[in-house]
Amino acid sequence: MATPQPLQLLAPLSGVLMALDRVPDPVFSGRVIGDGLCIDPTSSTLCAPLAGVVSNVQASGHAVSITDEHGVQVLMHIGLDTVNLAGQGFTRLVEEGQQVAAGQALIEFDADYIARHARSLLTLMLVVSGEPFNCLVEPSGRVDSGQPLLEISAVRGLSEDADATQGQVLFSPTLTLPNRNGLHARPAAVFAQAAKAFTATIHMHKQQAQANGKSLVALMALQTGFGDSVQISAAGDDAQVAIDTLARLLAEGCGEPVTVQAPVVIATDEPLTLLRGVCASPGSALGNVVQISEPSFDIDEFGGDAESEREALAHALIEADLALQHLRDTAAGEAEAEIFKAHQELLEDPGLLDQAAALIDTGKSAAFAWRTATETTAAMFRQLGNALLAERAADLSDVGQRVLKRLLGIDEQTLDLPQGSILIADQLTPSQTARIDTRKVLGFATVGGGATSHVAILARACGLPSICGVPVQMLALRNGTEVLLDADKGELQVQPDAATIEQWQARHAQQRQRHAHDLEHAALAACTRDGHHVEVSANVASLAETEQAMAMGGAGVGLLRSEFLYLGRNHAPGHDEQVATYSAIARCVGPEHNLVVRTLDVGGDKPLAYVPMESESNPFLGLRGIRLCLERPQLLREQLRAVLGCCALTRLHIMLPMVTQLAELRLARQMLEEEALALGLTELPKLGIMIEVPAAALMADLFAPLVDFFSIGTNDLTQYTLAMDRDHPRLASQADSFHPSVLRLIATTVKAAHAHGKWVGVCGAMASERLAVPLLLGLGVDELSVSVPMIAPIKATVRELAMADCQVIAKQVLGLESAGQVREALQLFHEASFEAAHVMEN
Ligand code: PEP
Ligand code: MG
Repeated sequence: MATPQPLQLLAPLSGVLMALDRVPDPVFSGRVIGDGLCIDPTSSTLCAPLAGVVSNVQASGHAVSITDEHGVQVLMHIGLDTVNLAGQGFTRLVEEGQQVAAGQALIEFDADYIARHARSLLTLMLVVSGEPFNCLVEPSGRVDSGQPLLEISAVRGLSEDADATQGQVLFSPTLTLPNRNGLHARPAAVFAQAAKAFTATIHMHKQQAQANGKSLVALMALQTGFGDSVQISAAGDDAQVAIDTLARLLAEGCGEPVTVQAPVVIATDEPLTLLRGVCASPGSALGNVVQISEPSFDIDEFGGDAESEREALAHALIEADLALQHLRDTAAGEAEAEIFKAHQELLEDPGLLDQAAALIDTGKSAAFAWRTATETTAAMFRQLGNALLAERAADLSDVGQRVLKRLLGIDEQTLDLPQGSILIADQLTPSQTARIDTRKVLGFATVGGGATSHVAILARACGLPSICGVPVQMLALRNGTEVLLDADKGELQVQPDAATIEQWQARHAQQRQRHAHDLEHAALAACTRDGHHVEVSANVASLAETEQAMAMGGAGVGLLRSEFLYLGRNHAPGHDEQVATYSAIARCVGPEHNLVVRTLDVGGDKPLAYVPMESESNPFLGLRGIRLCLERPQLLREQLRAVLGCCALTRLHIMLPMVTQLAELRLARQMLEEEALALGLTELPKLGIMIEVPAAALMADLFAPLVDFFSIGTNDLTQYTLAMDRDHPRLASQADSFHPSVLRLIATTVKAAHAHGKWVGVCGAMASERLAVPLLLGLGVDELSVSVPMIAPIKATVRELAMADCQVIAKQVLGLESAGQVREALQLFHEASFEAAHVMEN
């Protein structure tokens, strides 16, 4: 359909015009998305440049597109990288599907906020349907909102079916999106561009929704997020090549750097024997597969009168709240109860309730309104590209499903599991895990989730092994298949042979016996056979964990991960809340023991929702830890002030994470001194740094005189020394802290510290490995800060050793060439010392 009428596009904003070529972003300057103009805005309301339908408005409010009756599509994108602001600073004035007039206000934005928190405020107006146009003004200089800017003379009239091709429809396997923010403008444009190279009709499918794969706007309208499952379909001569090419492109991130390998499902007939993931809770188990999945429901979009739909929703919310209260009251531990408490809070969230109420007012059913409200908000959380918020999105979906079931009259039934189940799932929600009889479950393995996911928390609380980040092929395992879950190695062995099972059984029986013995003697001091005392303290992230640590024989806290106070919320914790938390922990540790509070270690891979930052292509190498705190000194000052509030209650130590430069330490010390002075304190707490960057280890001799102590973070020190992402599922077996290069850095650090009379701890996960104990003692480490369940086993290991032997083995392994060789040597040493200790005992 063509129209002879030229179409004028109006300026969507007032501001200064700029040619696209000058936009500092290759996707825009290269016209990958489409040709158009850029405006540096001086007004803050984005208006429609043409009359038409709002074909897409991003949930985060930073981009909107209008399609007119002839198929001309114009996309407006406010600012650069503003997708990362997750909606902050934007107010959407229109909804998708709404008819708008030329000049009508679409989005209001807080120019000041965006200018401060995003890369740029430059706003793009792009003709994404591809019609050529003439500029009506010079592509530089001032324009006023509503002024005619571009003229399209030949409107082609694109329609979805324009390129429709006959033929069988082929589908790709299910693909998981690796992009942090899903298919937002840039990757969607790259995908659409590539799709246009094929004659086949191409669609992308997400659940029930589908989009024309050649339309940028349609792809954006799918509102995909990180980890979403999508499929590509194609029909036409080159359908198979199109699917293969586009599936590969999606897996590679469509031109965006992706940090997670896309677990693309490749259809294969080969039997699965070994699947690798990441340990979420240690241990091992032999059991049978039980696949767990969440059903989807058919929902009527339209309901009865608004009043009765509102009542139905209110009733379902009350029932869900009561059920959650019951789960809270009967939870296995505090951590689990907290999760259900957070779910109860979601039921009262005004944003969700308002969204649902507004939909009911337009005639939608309560179930439809509630599902839409929870799913759109969850999708927005996922788009933030933050693992923790993505997990909160999972909580939101879970709450959504719970209320939905109440509305549809579906009962939550206890999952009927056979004895000895190993649960396999894409992701397990808190509600699913609450319905599981953990006496029948031996372990968990999930595709999604992480060490902070609910399933990991539950698994650790119940002492069940668990792995996450396993490839999606795992979901194809048949129920009842025998598997050996070795969470310590991050492995799931499918149908292990008899010899493997026998070996595992012998090892497992011995471990259990030993564990019982260690627990019995947890209160004994950690002294080697030749009288050398080692502090075995705990790594904690809550008061509850501190209480457990002290009850289990911990010599204080060697690492309080203070992030727990900051993450998963929309604003920084207030002073009083911080003081109350630190004081309660300090009281629990008491005046006889050390409490090492690590200052806020977030940023990069763990962004805070209320500290917007530019997205980083290498977040582990970016603004993390002390770097972020020195950029936001107020955050650090407030924390120091609060920590200082518990000075009198314990032997307070403050520890700075990710220190690389001496200047960082000096600046932080100055802040600490100023805050202590302002509080009238005469004595400063001890100040130390984590050694987790190779630079700090190599220059430990220069750092040592300026600190009171070091604590070695072997998790990060290993990833930075070996250049291997600590969470990379495929590098997990290589990213080993026992690598001689890491050991040499530990040795250097200890030597430098002791030369200046300072003590050294190890608080990375390595300290919680029994095998590492003789090595770390032999290298001269003074304190081992370990995970709470490992306090008793590590203390018991220390008691089995003689310091003189430890020094010999430490010296020996420093000269080896691989982590494997080091582990082997230590295993032999361990067996010999274990025997020696038992000979002496008997
Ligand atoms: C470490 O890096 O070893 C460490 C203890 O810090 P985190 O694991 O919290 O980064
Ligand atoms: Mg660290």
